[in-house]
Amino acid sequence: MPNKTLKILSSEDVARGTRAFHLSKPDGFNYEPGQTIDLTLINPPEMDAEGPVRTFSLVSAPHEPYLMFATRMRDTAFKRALKNAKPDMELAWDGPYGSFILHRNPSKPAVFLAGGIGITPFMSMTKYAIHHKLPHEIYLFHSNHLPEDSPFLNTLQEFEKQNPNVHYIPTMTDLEPSAQWSGERGIIDWNMIAQKAPTMKSPIYYLAGPPGFVTAMRDMLKANGADEDSIRFEEFPGY
Ligand SMILES: Cc1cc2nc3c(=O)[nH]c(=O)nc-3n(C[C@H](O)[C@H](O)[C@H](O)COP(=O)(O)OP(=O)(O)OC[C@H]3O[C@@H](n4cnc5c(N)ncnc54)[C@H](O)[C@@H]3O)c2cc1C
Repeated sequence: MPNKTLKILSSEDVARGTRAFHLSKPDGFNYEPGQTIDLTLINPPEMDAEGPVRTFSLVSAPHEPYLMFATRMRDTAFKRALKNAKPDMELAWDGPYGSFILHRNPSKPAVFLAGGIGITPFMSMTKYAIHHKLPHEIYLFHSNHLPEDSPFLNTLQEFEKQNPNVHYIPTMTDLEPSAQWSGERGIIDWNMIAQKAPTMKSPIYYLAGPPGFVTAMRDMLKANGADEDSIRFEEFPGY
């Protein structure tokens, strides 16, 4: 039995085909919002070429008493094991890892560009900023096909209502023109950013999601004159 283990306490759907898992927090586990954890299946009933380990951004924030991650429940050996997880199932863990964390200088706004499940590190950073009453302005753009695919949509809308520094801008790329939806439509582009954050000066951009999304967003920002040093990104391989 590996010596560093934690338990799955519970799980819930947070969008179509997308589940969040609450985990016990190991004693002394300290992390910064935006960091990741490596989770390993212990004696899985089956394995595929990708093996038993996956990296997940933590959705929880450090002040919360449990850990949480969220993932698209695709039909892979790892995800089948998660789907069939009984309460108290143990996972081996390693971490935290990563330097995808919020900048300290509050005079620079944070612009988060999330593609689908790429919302996970931004959940943690936003919760942290709210909890600690950070003065940073946060503009969180979140692109999904449809509202039902959009993880944590209601939670993020509540964050925005309760916190004047948090601006949540969900956009849907696959809506029928006749569909009811009061938010943005289409991919995140420079016009959308300029329209939603017109007075913003010297922002730091944070990009997370599938590699194709991250590449497209980097290219879009650079084509519109964003300084490369102001762009930070995290790619989720396998999507
Ligand atoms: C820094 C970092 C942070 C991450 N954070 C998160 C996170 O918060 N949440 C999260 O879910 N993931 C996160 N990931 C990615 C995660 O580690 C897995 O790679 C991802 O969840 C895919 O795992 P999987 O078991 O579904 O697919 P894998 O078994 O890893 O996929 C194997 C291959 O199968 C293909 N494939 C499998 N299913 C499908 C499908 N339905 N459609 C098309 N192709 C398919 C993929 O092309 C892929 O190449 C992160 C990765 C990194 C590096």
